[in-house]
Amino acid sequence: MKIKQVEIYAVNLPLIKPFIISYATYPNIQSIIVKMTTECGLVGWGESVPDEHITGETPESTYAMLKNTLAQLMIGQNPMEFEKIHELMDKRVHRAPAAKAAIDIACFDVVGKKLNVPVYQLLGGRYHEKFPVTHVLSIDEPEKMADEAEQKLEEGYTSFKMKVGQDILGDVKRIKAVRERVGEEIAIRVDVNQGWVNSANTLQALRHLESLGIDWLEQPVAQDDIDAMVEIKSKSTIPVMIDEGIRDMYNLREIIAKRAADKVNIKLMKCGGIYPAMKLANMAEMAGIECQVGSMVESSIGSAAGFHVAFSKKIIKSVELTGPVKFSKDLGDLKESYLIPYIQLNERPGLGVSVDETVLAELTQYSDLVE
Ligand code: MG
Repeated sequence: MKIKQVEIYAVNLPLIKPFIISYATYPNIQSIIVKMTTECGLVGWGESVPDEHITGETPESTYAMLKNTLAQLMIGQNPMEFEKIHELMDKRVHRAPAAKAAIDIACFDVVGKKLNVPVYQLLGGRYHEKFPVTHVLSIDEPEKMADEAEQKLEEGYTSFKMKVGQDILGDVKRIKAVRERVGEEIAIRVDVNQGWVNSANTLQALRHLESLGIDWLEQPVAQDDIDAMVEIKSKSTIPVMIDEGIRDMYNLREIIAKRAADKVNIKLMKCGGIYPAMKLANMAEMAGIECQVGSMVESSIGSAAGFHVAFSKKIIKSVELTGPVKFSKDLGDLKESYLIPYIQLNERPGLGVSVDETVLAELTQYSDLVE
């Protein structure tokens, strides 16, 4: 099987409401979609949702990287040779993980279709039957966040991820307000997205949070400050998760060596796709570190890719791939798998996503064909 052509689409995915985290507000999500066609006529779909705050890639740079470099490199290659595909990409381009993820995901989709199996069968088989879906609360006033949590509780959600990271006392009020509203039994995770910057601020906040029954505290400090995480982990009774600070195997090697985290949040857009994500999960398992698979708020295509990784690995304990329920219009039908409060994957071949090319055309700003 050989790759014959790669089409690239710059797409604007409309959100139902803006997504607000400590370092950015997103009125909509810019995504780069890849449609890979083989000589035998099979089609695989891939996606990049770059985040310049984390990997330094913008939608524009990702589009250019795919169009001018990575897509051309793929023509004539066998998409079944995952290790070789990544070696080719890594030799030509340093980093650029979101761009590489689009190629990687399209390869997995097309190989699954070729072999007539879901992608998780290529990753060791399905281990998890279902995962709870976590509702993500954007930063807002404490009572507004509590109102939204209460509404989602009524819809059937049983766990919440709170985005905080503005000011410590305000953040403590936000977390207290949500905990009081949802009761003791409901899971609350707190994601600071680097907003408390350093260990001193974080340890100050932790004194107020330790009695609030938080599952874990995610990325409180600047992403490259692994030493601050070491200090926080050693002093905190709340488990700590690294997100922005783990992008590739070199980061993870340092995190493991320094015992800097209890959990890591693996995202395909940070590490270069499904194949590198599996390597990270294996490394984490070796070190006794639990994993989550998260996302950059991706369409059905990228989200499904994350789910296939998550469903196949025992060490992956939670998922946070909420794109399909956040968009007012999506490119695929993954939303049908969200049976709140759980997600259950279908058993269709490849990613199991059927892409609506009419919607793709409608949301596309510009596109190119490489062959
Ligand atoms: Mg995070």
